Amino acid sequence: MSDMRDEVRARFFETFGSEPGGIWSAPGRVNLIGEHTDYNDGFVLPFAIDRRTVLGLGLREDRMLRVASAFADELVELDLSDLSPNNLHGWSAYPLGVAWALGEHGADLAAVPGFDIFIDSDVPVGAGLSSSAAIESAVAVALNDVWHLNLDRRTLALVGQLAENKAVGAPTGIMDQSASLLGRADCAVFLDCRSLDSEIIDLGFTAAGLELVIIDTGVSHSHATGGYAERRASCELGARLLEVESLREVTVTDLPRARNLLDDVTFRRVRHVVTENQRVLDTVRTLREHGARAIGDLLDASHRSMREDFEISVSELDLAVETAQMNGAIGARMTGGGFGGAAIALIPSEDVSRLQVAIDGAFAEHGFGQPDTFVVRAADGAGRD
Ligand code: ADP
Ligand code: MG
Repeated sequence: MSDMRDEVRARFFETFGSEPGGIWSAPGRVNLIGEHTDYNDGFVLPFAIDRRTVLGLGLREDRMLRVASAFADELVELDLSDLSPNNLHGWSAYPLGVAWALGEHGADLAAVPGFDIFIDSDVPVGAGLSSSAAIESAVAVALNDVWHLNLDRRTLALVGQLAENKAVGAPTGIMDQSASLLGRADCAVFLDCRSLDSEIIDLGFTAAGLELVIIDTGVSHSHATGGYAERRASCELGARLLEVESLREVTVTDLPRARNLLDDVTFRRVRHVVTENQRVLDTVRTLREHGARAIGDLLDASHRSMREDFEISVSELDLAVETAQMNGAIGARMTGGGFGGAAIALIPSEDVSRLQVAIDGAFAEHGFGQPDTFVVRAADGAGRD
């Protein structure tokens, strides 16, 4: 981490010819359980991970916004007066979209100074670990500080979401930003996506001798197009036909009635969301009452529901999950939006290397590309470094 901060300082100086006024960072996140429940006003249980996006920021005396990233060859410039979602494109829509979205949440963009930002990150992009929320949250906390906005973290999460929805054009929920902003070491963030109330839940993985392994299949997913938007539309249709505001209001006991009212595909989409909400509640309760070693079956059931009912898994994710389950994992599931990205496995520490070898072997045997398998720990959320 300190290496990346030094690197950011050096690259900031190279790019802008001055020292940054400060360094801020925000983590990626992994969702332990609660998939596609966030935009249905339901429950999620993500945690911030020990992979971060780090930025250096310096205020300017004029109203120029300049952003550069170790990921991109370009320096993007825009005058604050021209800041609008229609003027934002490519990767810079994330950081500049946050500046715009702060204006929608009370910042007086006519009065604030411009800035230079240099960004680097060790959150893998497109792996379902939300490099997008990491960049949004890092920019949001930094601008909240230097523009003296005093916005609370719940509002900053909404700012990141607004940037992603309107400036980037990806119809994502509030989970990723909440995890990145609210996370704590060795804890998860239990979030009610309707009220936005959150609670920090002890994971106790370390005490239980467990590690959370990410298996990044390398199969890329895309939120802005395709399946994600389609699943979202199915959920909205289900809610409309069941005459509820959102699927949050449907419980497991309502499912027999739903089956009579909905076509088969819509019913299975609804059943995933409804049972997944229940699994999040059960996971929180199980963690409290019985500890981390008892949540494995819930993780396994979540994967089955996404594979069979929500139909967002792919062969690589199924293989990762099955291989983990056969090699010591107490539970495993795909995580993130689906159609690619990563799976997670909760596994005793002593079995991690065996799992890595087994995954590589299984993927080679199936002719799939080599996945990236690594441990993540629950870490603190965004802040000034
Ligand atoms: P993820 O699952 O990683 O969040 P997304 O597609 O939602 O995947 O977001 C990835 C996009 O976010 C990248 O394509 C890029 O535009 C932007 N991004 C993330 N991290 C950085 C970074 N460090 N520098 C520049 N752009 C970034
Ligand atoms: Mg994302």
